[in-house]
Amino acid sequence: MNKILITGAAGFIGSNLARALVSEGYEVIGIDNLSTGRLDNLSDLADSPRFAFLESDVSKESFLERPELERVREIFHFASAASPKFYQADPFGTIAVNTSGTRNLLQLALRNGAKMVYASTSEAYGDPLVHPQDEEYRGNVNTWGPRACYDEAKRLGEVYCYEYWKQFGLAVKVARIFNTYSDGLRQDDGRVISNLVTQALGGRDMTIYGDGSQTRSFCFITDTVNGLRRMMDREAANGQIINIGNEKEYTILQVANLVKELTNSPSRITFHPLPQDDPTRRRPSIRKARELLEWEPEVELAEGLRRTIEAYRNRKDA
Ligand code: NAD
Ligand code: UDP
Repeated sequence: MNKILITGAAGFIGSNLARALVSEGYEVIGIDNLSTGRLDNLSDLADSPRFAFLESDVSKESFLERPELERVREIFHFASAASPKFYQADPFGTIAVNTSGTRNLLQLALRNGAKMVYASTSEAYGDPLVHPQDEEYRGNVNTWGPRACYDEAKRLGEVYCYEYWKQFGLAVKVARIFNTYSDGLRQDDGRVISNLVTQALGGRDMTIYGDGSQTRSFCFITDTVNGLRRMMDREAANGQIINIGNEKEYTILQVANLVKELTNSPSRITFHPLPQDDPTRRRPSIRKARELLEWEPEVELAEGLRRTIEAYRNRKDA
């Protein structure tokens, strides 16, 4: 039976994807260097005969020699820190995994005749001047700032994918993922939903950077995972960049108020300096995903937050 490889399998999206695939009977190999991911995220797969874990850095070519990679026919390349806090703490690692790492995975795909989905990001649009962002928009990215190591590395990762598709006809697809959430992030992940929910549940000050008027569009993990799997399965997605995200746009202040209300928290909402180059508005057009994948998200923010809060509560009480 063919195998599916997930890089970044011990991370947030990778571990959720691995669980979904293994539960449906697929054989999955997860690779991770455990830089931001945790083996805890995979603990319920530890005893599964259909799951194997390799601790390895995919930006180094040496992992390609691993015999376990024979018969891999589908590759989800998700390895890369995603939280600004972590990708900025290791800028060269972030650049390496998205550039050399992406090239290594493309080589593996070519060698094995495998399909590949590359996890790019809405950050490829930078601080967008066009709204909502469709895949034709070329973005507004600063090369000379703290987010550049992530944004530009992802953009170069996309270029590698384009060249392998163009020159070798590889069945590679690029997912520009917009902010995805649920429980399962590290307590210290630093991204907005995990910060606000853990702060609200702990009765601590809820931190808003800037005045909270900046916007994001939040996609619940099950929707993102379904969209990514559609990308892998659909031939129409080969050689395409496709936005995967939720079209509903919220200010960060609205999100904070919603979290406060849903948790019934006494926490105060507090305001702090806005990080440099923090994008002002972000909202995907998912017209292309609707057309090519017949996919759209199903979980509304309030419902997704309810599920997230419930899971964090259980974790807290455990
Ligand atoms: P995460 O930090 O939870 O997971 C990333 C995983 O990659 C971690 O387990 C980390 O240890 C691993 N990793 C990093 N460098 C590696 C390397 N060199 N070799 C092997 N493993 C390595 O992040 P996430 O939220 O699960 O994001 C997964 C992917 O999706 C990333 O590529 C990210 O850029 C992309 N993405 C995520 C979001 C989101 O909202 N979560 C949005 C846009 C794009
Ligand atoms: N943010 C915030 N408070 C926090 C964490 C983040 O106000 O505790 C803001 C951040 O400045 C950004 C938005 O929330 O405007 C989303 O941040 P996140 O780090 O989750 O992801 P980004 O989309 O910026 O990569």
